[in-house]
Amino acid sequence: MTLVPPQDRAYFAAFLDLRGKAGVVVGGGAVAALKIQTLLRSGVRVTVIAPRCEALVAELAVLGAIRLERRRFQPGDLVGADIAIAATDDRLVNEAVSAAARALRIPVNVADDAALSSFIMPSVVDRPPLQIAISSAGVSPVLARKVRTLIVAAVPHAFGRLAALAGRFRALSKRRIPDPEARRRFWEAVMDGPVAEAALAGNDDLAARLLHESLGRKDELDKVKIPSGFVSLVGAGPGDPELLTLRALRVMQRASVVLYDHLVSPALVDLVRRDAERIYVGKECDNHALPQAEINRLMVRLAREGKRVVRLKGGDPFIFGRGGEEIETLAAHGIPFEVVPGITAAAGAAAYAGIPLTHRDCADACVFVTGHLKDGAAVLDWTSLARPRQTVVVYMGVGGLAAICEGLAAHGLSPETPAALVERATLPGQRVVEGTLATLAAAAQAAKVRPPALLIVGEVVRLRSRLSCDGYGRAAAETAAAT
Ligand code: SAH
Repeated sequence: MTLVPPQDRAYFAAFLDLRGKAGVVVGGGAVAALKIQTLLRSGVRVTVIAPRCEALVAELAVLGAIRLERRRFQPGDLVGADIAIAATDDRLVNEAVSAAARALRIPVNVADDAALSSFIMPSVVDRPPLQIAISSAGVSPVLARKVRTLIVAAVPHAFGRLAALAGRFRALSKRRIPDPEARRRFWEAVMDGPVAEAALAGNDDLAARLLHESLGRKDELDKVKIPSGFVSLVGAGPGDPELLTLRALRVMQRASVVLYDHLVSPALVDLVRRDAERIYVGKECDNHALPQAEINRLMVRLAREGKRVVRLKGGDPFIFGRGGEEIETLAAHGIPFEVVPGITAAAGAAAYAGIPLTHRDCADACVFVTGHLKDGAAVLDWTSLARPRQTVVVYMGVGGLAAICEGLAAHGLSPETPAALVERATLPGQRVVEGTLATLAAAAQAAKVRPPALLIVGEVVRLRSRLSCDGYGRAAAETAAAT
């Protein structure tokens, strides 16, 4: 064994069980309030000593959550305490607390003063029962907080629930798999398999059932392997990778195989785990790389092979995305699945083009319809669409644009109603062509608008000149005027 020399500022990292223990906090300001709350979360019985205090601290006292003594600190105050914290702006008081605590051999922390402290308080990411503590040894609390932010984004809340679930099955796993090495492999497989997938998808019941089953099956235990695969139907948003949800990103980075369509931009496919297999299943209008039934069958086959299948879809899977049909097939074959929602094209286009879909002054309702043509004609419920104070968003409406604009005007909307086409919304090269029901079709033709594009009809389109901005806070109209 080699002796490791102590490193500069090498703190000993530990988690203390302070449930029911007595803690004394000296000070009642904002910093003290944070420390008090941290202690309370760990089950400490807190006494606060401060002549003056923040409203929050006073409220905690009124609620009976803490004992508050409105006076100055005296060294005797720490007798009987298990832990002490000083957070006053008076250095002499802080020193007195530190000295008294050290004399009594009680751990003490002085806010922002490592020299007076026998322990420091880390930045914590709480995913109970999972806790991640971060420290910069007091050198750069700001950097520690930055690291914390990264971890907060990377560690799903569901990990906490997964840890709790593992806790429930710990004793059973010890009985069923006495060999520690085999047990470790079992838990590794659990944390990488469908049990974890189900827990991360928020289906704790399924996760518990799968875990219980795998612990109950002798053959599975021998192989230390968890059964079938899992399918995630993931909404990839309208195109800008920044619009992915954290959950979508996480699922994509765990995928073993991904099936994607033409609406999913290459930048998004890039975010899938590097060694995952990528299968293009296409689906430009009338140009399906794979027919829907075959996509469904492929997903079932891949899942049966034990793969973590990600079905990546543009926008949201449940909005004109055939998500419903795809999961029906999965459900019929008993394949566990989840649906991860995405930002639908309407929401993306609206935000990036500066067109709110509802507005108190001019639109109380918003409808999403598909403008896909059937036998060359747009089949829509015109009377329900041609209503005042309603925004109509038409997906797949480029081909039938002229017919849709005419139909809306023929059924009661003024031909002067503003309308816009947002082409390649949220993607590089996004274009917005504005007009009215009477003029938009010709303007779009002149501008050679191509799918994917979204048609937005309604008074809200007028707000665009005021509300869209170029990312530097300048209104689009100003930018246009300036260039
Ligand atoms: N599930 C998707 C919609 C699929 S239907 C969603 O929720 O967004 C395909 C239609 O969506 C396209 O014809 C187009 O009208 C619209 N669309 C998708 N992405 C788009 C984008 N980046 N810009 C404009 N329209 C888009």
